[in-house]
Amino acid sequence: LPTAPAAAAARLCSGAGGEAEAADGDGAMLRHLARKLRASGPVTVAEYMREALTNPGQGYYTRRGGVGESGDFITSPEISQVFGELIGIWYISEWMAMGKPNTFQLVELGPGRGTLTDDILRVFNQLASVLSKCDVSVHLVEVSPKLSKMQAVMLTGGKVQPNPEDKSAYMKGFSKTGIPIFWYRDIQDVPPGYSFYLAHEFFDALPIHKFQQTRKGWREVLVDIDPEVPDQLRFVLSPSRTPATQNFIQPEETRDHVEVCPEAGVIVQRLASRIEKDGGAALVADYGHDGTKTDTFRGFRNHKLHDVLSAPGTADLTADVDFSYLRKMAQGRTATLGPIKQREFLKNMGIDLRLKVLLQNSGDTATREQLLHSYDMLMNPEKMGDCFNFFALLPHHRLVHPDKKDKPESKPPLPPVAGFNELLLK
Ligand code: SAH
Repeated sequence: LPTAPAAAAARLCSGAGGEAEAADGDGAMLRHLARKLRASGPVTVAEYMREALTNPGQGYYTRRGGVGESGDFITSPEISQVFGELIGIWYISEWMAMGKPNTFQLVELGPGRGTLTDDILRVFNQLASVLSKCDVSVHLVEVSPKLSKMQAVMLTGGKVQPNPEDKSAYMKGFSKTGIPIFWYRDIQDVPPGYSFYLAHEFFDALPIHKFQQTRKGWREVLVDIDPEVPDQLRFVLSPSRTPATQNFIQPEETRDHVEVCPEAGVIVQRLASRIEKDGGAALVADYGHDGTKTDTFRGFRNHKLHDVLSAPGTADLTADVDFSYLRKMAQGRTATLGPIKQREFLKNMGIDLRLKVLLQNSGDTATREQLLHSYDMLMNPEKMGDCFNFFALLPHHRLVHPDKKDKPESKPPLPPVAGFNELLLK
């Protein structure tokens, strides 16, 4: 008989914990899942997470959206405009270091409310003289109809065209500064071309598989219906190995609990192939670890921790990103940098100077206090400074000159990659 594993330990990187909330909501997702589990038995945690988050009818992102102060969780771009501005500068700095190609696509995965792209486009506009000869377009990968509407309002004022004929996109519009913006459900629909990719708090929302080492070997953690309590979900262990235990556990694994996100692996493979073929770079920012943590699956509702199995579809479900896995899945097609802590990345990008300028320019005490407060949220090691990380994929030639044995000394040194090193913008 399957046995129930130890309860998932909830982690909250900001330290501001809360009690798990009682289930409420209309329970449609729970009824849907309960029917499914009764009919065909337990499902993997990955399948449970996919249903709960992105089921087209009842999924959390599909229906609720969740991001922002009035939602269930708050993210860095929602805390401070400085965050997005510094990321915008990162792209410009890389664009310059890569020889100022005359066109690029900015591709954001999981743009939430669209705030980050909006802040980046403001920087692009402020530096229009630098980018003047460059043809920029924006490509947003978003599964949630609700969030794509919010993004459209934020970025275009709501003037969008559904199902444009000229592209594989499901929606098209223009930014306030005239930059074309396209929406897709999948990264594979984004046209090829020189691209700068961005994934902020995206990979943590992708479905994970959970595994546990037992005396009989690796078993997968599954979600089942509790036979004793109607419509109550519980964790069980697979009675034998599953396809996932066979494919996703490394032979050299030393942890006894492991979480693996194959979908993140597939997306990183795609990003790496695209960057290798067409050029560009990817910047990934998320909470996570470098292959050391074991049990990070947790839920959030109304800014509080929420039992992952209670009232599915009404809470955000998330797991820490395993950067060591992402690095491995790039498969050497690109170079990788990081993970580096958010506070180090932002410091390298010049956040202190930016804060100083904003403080000098703001007359009223309330604004100054708000600036200092948001700086503290982003940078304080106890808040988001330490547990959020930055990670990048870059073409190999961006970091080392292609191996030409003749006259290596004739080559100018490659500029350091900003964020991972100090920003040197001329
Ligand atoms: N980047 C934003 C939002 C993070 S929330 C911010 O930092 O504020 C996660 C985002 O990813 C949401 O926009 C959600 O709808 C989207 N998302 C989740 N799963 C997805 C998937 N499989 N494909 C595309 N987008 C997805």
